[in-house]
Amino acid sequence: MRKIVIAGNWKMHKTQGDALAFLQEFLNYLTETPDDREAVLCVPFTALGTLSKNLHGSLIKLGAQNIHWADEGAFTGEISGDMLSELGVRYVIVGHSERRQYFGETDETVNQRLLAAQRHGLTPILCVGETKEQRDAGETDSIIAAQISKDLVDVDQSNLVIAYEPIWAIGTGDTCEATDANKVIGAIRAQLTNQDVPIQYGGSVKPGNIDEIMAQSEIDGVLVGGASLQAEGFARIVNFQ
Ligand code: PEP
Repeated sequence: MRKIVIAGNWKMHKTQGDALAFLQEFLNYLTETPDDREAVLCVPFTALGTLSKNLHGSLIKLGAQNIHWADEGAFTGEISGDMLSELGVRYVIVGHSERRQYFGETDETVNQRLLAAQRHGLTPILCVGETKEQRDAGETDSIIAAQISKDLVDVDQSNLVIAYEPIWAIGTGDTCEATDANKVIGAIRAQLTNQDVPIQYGGSVKPGNIDEIMAQSEIDGVLVGGASLQAEGFARIVNFQ
């Protein structure tokens, strides 16, 4: 039975005060949330402590946006698995396209970060996706297949979420057709040894398109950027029909 995971990625938004204000409003909207799904907030490192102290007993799980592959050491600016788990973090995004594009992440470093997350008992959300040029050239399936096979070397598929995020759909308002995303996600699943890995879609998900996306047979949740910053809208996404 595949778990449904609805995750928000705040990226570099919200101070601690903003995060607390969001949480108070968000919790009010979640009172009717069905218990068949997990809601995750992947927030900046600076907001993890504050949210962790105020989440008790709620449905929401805490997530980070990156993790270093070493357990400790001379890695200025990086954060280790122990530092995250002591704050009550349960999920961590790994290999987001913004990390790959702006911060030089490669499939090799993504793989090392996935292994580190699992070593520390965290569930990584591995992001994969193709560019517009790759899609137009008909390379989507081969690009995604290569990412999956390189990123997942030695990774335990029983503690993993994958997010299919076409890069051209992220932050553009240009959502991938739900049926197209469903096909790509089906192809990802066919490559996995564990058929219970939840696979999300990400890319301009909003309250207006969540029901169509979640109606697809292969899609087990969403990773939401911009629309997760607003409590009422994100609650509508979590509460999809
Ligand atoms: C993301 O950053 O993972 C994302 C999907 O962003 P957006 O929802 O804003 O397209």
